[in-house]
Amino acid sequence: MSLGQRQRHDAISGNPLPDPPPGPTVLELRHVTCAYEQGRPAICDISLAIREGEILCLLGPSGCGKTTTLRVIAGFEPVTAGEVYLEGRLVSSPDSLVATERRRIGMVFQDYALFPHLRVLDNIAFGLHALPKDERQARVSTLLALIGLTGLERRYPHELSGGQQQRVALARALAQKPAVLLLDEPFSNLDPDMTGKMREELYDLLLRTKTTAILVTHDHEEAFAMADRVAVLRDGRLEQFDSPEAIYHTPASPFVADFVGQADFVPGLIENGTVATEIGSFPNQKGFAAGTKVVVMIRPDDVHIAPSAQGTARVTARQFRGSENLYTLQLPSGDILHSSETSTSIYPIGTLVNVHVLATHTVLFEQGRPTSA
Ligand code: ADP
Ligand code: MG
Repeated sequence: MSLGQRQRHDAISGNPLPDPPPGPTVLELRHVTCAYEQGRPAICDISLAIREGEILCLLGPSGCGKTTTLRVIAGFEPVTAGEVYLEGRLVSSPDSLVATERRRIGMVFQDYALFPHLRVLDNIAFGLHALPKDERQARVSTLLALIGLTGLERRYPHELSGGQQQRVALARALAQKPAVLLLDEPFSNLDPDMTGKMREELYDLLLRTKTTAILVTHDHEEAFAMADRVAVLRDGRLEQFDSPEAIYHTPASPFVADFVGQADFVPGLIENGTVATEIGSFPNQKGFAAGTKVVVMIRPDDVHIAPSAQGTARVTARQFRGSENLYTLQLPSGDILHSSETSTSIYPIGTLVNVHVLATHTVLFEQGRPTSA
């Protein structure tokens, strides 16, 4: 199983990145397709592998197939093509389906799905009836301490805050010592000011318990903050599976580029071995043939502006974001470009500016080509 093996380097500096945990592959999806009834598949030809201890994020817009992927892994949905291997064992194929309770999978749902009539203690102990009483109590106490809810074990779910309920749901899933923990948008029901804190807590808990996890999110910042690797889905297909750094700096398609951060696409033409655009020339890194129409992906962090009476671009908007000013610029062609400047660089709307792009690498896409990776 070699799908998960990949040397990681920072796309910009070329420096090696910290390796994801070097453990064995725990879960592998090979060319998995899943269709609800007949009709268009909800996910199509998905291949990815996860190593022990790794945190993988499934990232993509609503309806792209994230939840379906988790449901396939958990065994709630059969596959129409492909195979799923869990701990080296075939658990799903078009001809076979190992039941959810016979897969070592833990799940935390969007709404936590705690049992309302059970106290915290019994929610966490729910799946542990096979254990002797002493062992069960010991495991529940350890988990209560891990999630910081010791003392609240006799409360009912409705007597807890959203964040506390989420911790109980996590503890309940971890109590089973799952081979893989699946988390479906676990922060979506929390107040925004709780999300950052819970994200850090969850990350810490996953590392401390050495849990292999798949986290579903539509928020690229969350994916970048948590993941060893990110799988970007679009319309049920895997667009890119890579380190967060590679996804951001070397997106495989304009869709990925746009989804994981602000990106502009400046049209260019291959001439004399370079890419000619109205904001200067760029290296023809993909070796496109002369005359090919391309677009250059440019991030606002790489665009620098200097006010000048001879400037060819014009400031049309400024968004103050605290740590930066994000400027919208109109180029002579009418195309729009964005520039991120320090929070103290203030240029009024209408200012004429010169534009310098200081990118250490260039991301090029051919114009009019299908965007799939
Ligand atoms: P996400 O979690 O990324 O928002 P989903 O996996 O829930 O996406 O959905 C993927 C696609 O499958 C969508 O087009 C959705 O409408 C469809 N879908 C999801 N669940 C069902 C279902 N139970 N029956 C039929 N279609 C479904
Ligand atoms: Mg979903």
